[in-house]
Amino acid sequence: MDFDLIVIGSGPGGYHAAIRAAQLGLKVACVEKGAVGGVCLNVGCIPTKALLHVAAELRGAKDASAFGVDFGTPKVDLAAVDRWKLDVVKKQTSGVGMLFKGNKVTLLEGEGRFTGKNTVEVAGKAYTAEKFVIATGSRPAAIPGFELDGDRIIDSTGALTIGASVPARLLVIGAGAIGLEFADVYSSFGSEVTVVEMLPQIAGAADADASKELAKALEKRGMRILTSTKVVSQKATAKGTEVTVEGQDGKREVITADRVLVAVGRRPNGAGLGLEAAGVQVDERGFVTVVNDHMQTNAPHVYAIGDVARAPLLAHKAMKEGIVAAEHAAGMPSAYDTVVPSVIYTEPELASVGMTEAEAKEAGFEVRVGRFPLSASGRASTLGVSGGLVKLIGDAKTDILLGFHMVGPNAGDIVSEAALAIEMGATLEDIALTQHPHPTISEAVMEAAEHAHGKAIHIANRRR
Ligand code: FAD
Repeated sequence: MDFDLIVIGSGPGGYHAAIRAAQLGLKVACVEKGAVGGVCLNVGCIPTKALLHVAAELRGAKDASAFGVDFGTPKVDLAAVDRWKLDVVKKQTSGVGMLFKGNKVTLLEGEGRFTGKNTVEVAGKAYTAEKFVIATGSRPAAIPGFELDGDRIIDSTGALTIGASVPARLLVIGAGAIGLEFADVYSSFGSEVTVVEMLPQIAGAADADASKELAKALEKRGMRILTSTKVVSQKATAKGTEVTVEGQDGKREVITADRVLVAVGRRPNGAGLGLEAAGVQVDERGFVTVVNDHMQTNAPHVYAIGDVARAPLLAHKAMKEGIVAAEHAAGMPSAYDTVVPSVIYTEPELASVGMTEAEAKEAGFEVRVGRFPLSASGRASTLGVSGGLVKLIGDAKTDILLGFHMVGPNAGDIVSEAALAIEMGATLEDIALTQHPHPTISEAVMEAAEHAHGKAIHIANRRR
């Protein structure tokens, strides 16, 4: 065999798997047909967060007059913003290249395809290995009739480059994390933004209260959000792209936009890998079927991780799965069984981990809910923040924390406290008894836990 392990795809899942396996002494190759770092580093998590940072600075400068500081109207050099974003991406991707070198992972450039049980062909050359990790990720989902043209109609990759000028009117189709983050960016740069979502709420499967709170905040920022609404058709006119949308009641409306962003989810890259040659099953949606907690497929020498393996399509889940697969391939008993936090990096951020209230009830729990509105947080006041909330879901019988949902500043960092609490089997009381520094936004987590026990200090407690 040429290698102990060949990883196909160098996104967050693939590069974690390759490096961890190499750390454990395996001879490893990683196949990549595009840019090292995958979607996350090149056209996903990292560039969007770079743009969101610029957007936040821009809004901060504009909003500072509320605190008595006038910066005047900010001047934006879009080409410089783009260069900065690309520099951030380059720093991250070259870091992965260096880690590959440092850990002696061989990078095989080209498209990988199985041609036998233990053989993968890359750029016309066959490489053999004992074991494989499929980490080929996902691509944007399309809507028939809304074909991308790189100008009027774009996907998330197209939206990363704002171009020569900010579109006056942006229509975002899909109010998941990706759609909402771009809505935030473009709205901050001055676009009039409309978001159309087919589901009854924004932010996908988020807790209903958190979703409502985020929608309220984004609408307050000037975005128009239409839920339970689907797009029907589009046509280019002299006025712009006219998109016909239809509400649940069948009522139609034409929305004219200068740019239309299609952000309706992602499709796994399970096809075209020659998986039949390795005897690996793919389901009807294109996900490579994972059969156990070690991330093995039905062919035990082949693992599948990240977006191509299963939802949720998140980078940190891919990373964790990559580590589990690598360790198991190296003979360790590692298994994947952790909760997956998720964050929407809008302002305010929405972060959650564990069960929503509805999920907990559906799973048969008698739930105990603790809430704390950030309007009662001293730290929020000092930041000029008036909305936002923390909502904790506990099991009324055992007091164990089942879920955390937050809308507010730093929610994406604070969620890690809740993820750890859930992993450790902490109770609401554990959280309530833990000192949180004052004044911080994180105090709201403690007060929500206190509220669940009828002893919050800064808000009225329900009669118990
Ligand atoms: P990917 O990152 O998709 O990488 C797969 C790699 O495999 C690619 O480089 C591809 O070129 C390569 N490949 C595919 N087929 C082959 C082949 N046959 N041969 C060789 N190479 C191949 N997630 C978060 O957790 N947080 C975020 O903030 C976040 N923001 C996002 C923003 C945007 C705009 C987008 C699009 C996604 C975002 N995501 C975010 C999702 C995140 O990017 C993905 O969940 C993550 O990249 C999945 O990692 P992966 O390793 O499974 O695959």
